[in-house]
Amino acid sequence: MMNHKRHLIRVAGIVQGVGFRPFVYRLAKQRKLSGLVFNDSHGVQIEIEGAQHSLSDFSRALQAELPVLASISAVTVTEQQPLGEQGFRITESAASAGRSAQIAPDSNVCSDCLQELFDPQDRRYRYPFINCTNCGPRYSIVTDIPYDRPKTTMVDFPMCPVCQAEYDDPVSRRFHAQPNACAECGPQVSLLADDLMLTGDAAVVETISRLKQGQIVAIKGVGGYHLAVDASNDDAVRRLRQRKHRDEKPFAVMSLDLQRVQQYVQLSELDERLLSGVERPIVLLLRRADGPLSDQVAPMNKYVGTMLPYAPLHYLLLEEFTALVMTSGNQSDEPIAFKNSEAQERLESIADCYLQHDRRIHIQTDDSIVRLLDGQPVLYRRSRGYVPRGVCLPADQPSVLAVGAELKNCICLTRNGQAFLSQHIGDLKNQRVVDSLRQAITHQQSLLEVKPEMIAHDLHPDYLSTHVAQDLAGDLPLVAVQHHHAHLASCLVDNGQTGPAIGVIFDGIGYGSDGHIWGGEFLVGDLYDFDRIAHLKYLPMPGGDAATREPWRMALSYLHSAFAGDIPEIQALQEVPAKDRKLLGQMIEKRLNAPLTSSVGRLFDAVAAMIGLRNRVSYEGQAALELEMLIEDNGAGEAGYSFTLVESAGSLQIDTAPLIRSVVSDLQAEVPVAQISARFHNGMAQMIVDLCQRIAVDRGRLPVALSGGVFQNRYLAERAAKLLRQAEFEVLLHRQVPPNDGGLALGQAAIAGRKNF
Ligand code: ZN
Ligand code: ZN
Ligand code: FE
Repeated sequence: MMNHKRHLIRVAGIVQGVGFRPFVYRLAKQRKLSGLVFNDSHGVQIEIEGAQHSLSDFSRALQAELPVLASISAVTVTEQQPLGEQGFRITESAASAGRSAQIAPDSNVCSDCLQELFDPQDRRYRYPFINCTNCGPRYSIVTDIPYDRPKTTMVDFPMCPVCQAEYDDPVSRRFHAQPNACAECGPQVSLLADDLMLTGDAAVVETISRLKQGQIVAIKGVGGYHLAVDASNDDAVRRLRQRKHRDEKPFAVMSLDLQRVQQYVQLSELDERLLSGVERPIVLLLRRADGPLSDQVAPMNKYVGTMLPYAPLHYLLLEEFTALVMTSGNQSDEPIAFKNSEAQERLESIADCYLQHDRRIHIQTDDSIVRLLDGQPVLYRRSRGYVPRGVCLPADQPSVLAVGAELKNCICLTRNGQAFLSQHIGDLKNQRVVDSLRQAITHQQSLLEVKPEMIAHDLHPDYLSTHVAQDLAGDLPLVAVQHHHAHLASCLVDNGQTGPAIGVIFDGIGYGSDGHIWGGEFLVGDLYDFDRIAHLKYLPMPGGDAATREPWRMALSYLHSAFAGDIPEIQALQEVPAKDRKLLGQMIEKRLNAPLTSSVGRLFDAVAAMIGLRNRVSYEGQAALELEMLIEDNGAGEAGYSFTLVESAGSLQIDTAPLIRSVVSDLQAEVPVAQISARFHNGMAQMIVDLCQRIAVDRGRLPVALSGGVFQNRYLAERAAKLLRQAEFEVLLHRQVPPNDGGLALGQAAIAGRKNF
């Protein structure tokens, strides 16, 4: 027995509810090892003994052959006295103090389950809730920890004897698969329309026929409701736009497989991998001009948000369509609907009928949005499929609750060295969203079993999220974090760095330390502090918030600044009534209701309005997005517009007057707008490099973090990154959390965690 050893192995990470114990069981059996495996509050414990070489091989396989949904964050091995035990067993969960196990994200249906779904001989043939330990809902159905059936919404469905036997059998694919169910005992779908009610497969079949007729169907999925229509039916898609009061914002589509997707978008190999991943995000893909989708799906956009099915129900529905529009089931500005009763009330004016089911969704999760940028995926919205996976912090820190920003709100709670961002909560514009924020905070705290030691919020005194933080604080210290410092910190943590770095933070609006509205910032900072080295010259934002909805206001503001009152006539702006323009001119001159801003987002708006794209936007960032879409393939060769630098009171101001004057003279010379857009973008990229070079003279060649919503602009981000690398800067782009305000809470949490009280 010389080489006979016993190891106690502790595994932490996402190892519960993902088939980890049966996997360990199989590995042990194959290697003739004995011992036991069980879940505890930290993850999984394995006690295992046998020949030394088999144990080493076991340890290797443990990491190398991991189940698809599992991920290991730490393994510790302690040697024990061998017991001479026979056989290997899976034992019951041990509850111990200090829980740190992690719930898995919701996952798409696996290939084994799909095979059964379409096998007429299988007892789950066409059963829309088929799942196993490798797939199915997780985060959206968990009500509490530890992850066990009674602590999920599946508690409503006692298992039939056949399902129970699978659940209890250590070698079954469904051993302790908490959502395990079949048509006998599990959830059911039903179709509700004015004229009928159907359940089971009849409901699915009728839904398909109604979709084919062009009806709008509210479909309950994994994280909430979708509104679905046939994506190649122009009338149907247009009707959905009208009813949803969503004039232009792109809709996402879903297709059964990659072949169908290829009919309407261009796919790289990496895109295919993103689409097919277990997270099943919406991937932004370049549209084919000749594709079969209705132009109404994504007007004025070269890209279309595309996803593959993830719930078994989607597979049953999609066979007969090239693609279905699958947009969030909500009214504009409201959170996604996820409860049956609420959906009928809230979607009544939009949906013709409802395909729903009786498996409760405990936490709503919108579809995540991702795109390839600079050769790697970047999240634009991090929600279903990714939440509640943790993001590593650079070091252990006291637990912080960070309440995020006002738009694209998402909260973050830290535990030791990990940050857990919530699902996408939305824009805090009404009470429903604020309620949803409060619920997310409570739920996150109970799942992670941590009590925060401090609360971080945005510096803006009037943000609703700031008020929520103040409400919850009690005796806890509050930390107000400047918006753009939080963006910089978020990008650093996202890249596993601590700074110092140059932060190029371009976004819409964020409250500045001087009370003005920032958004075109060159910072140098780390997770503790920052210096503001340079920023766009302040300009009045006439009408305040109205200026973000009506880009012509910023166009006039920029023109006033560039031409000192003697403003040239811009054709696109003539559409605005003369008296409105006059009034605005007075607001600018007298600085009435015209807060100062350095926002790059507003500069994009101004240029978009000047070249005639639009004077009014229907969603955040629309004008900037459309400006980007204008650039054509040969745009890269255009010389960029220039700017000047003004040094005053120790800070550098970027004056874009030369840029604005160039836009005007190009318009007068009838230069095509595609070229104007390219010259503008190229000028902005050059501005980034020039400023970083200048900062490097005093501060050294620090890494450059590109963050803020403007860096969702692929053309700008990629060009800036390329130029920066040519100038030998290391470039940090977001990867795990969005560059927009959806990633802000991570930065807030990292900064607050370093404060001393
Ligand atoms: Zn499965
Ligand atoms: Zn059953
Ligand atoms: Fe921001």
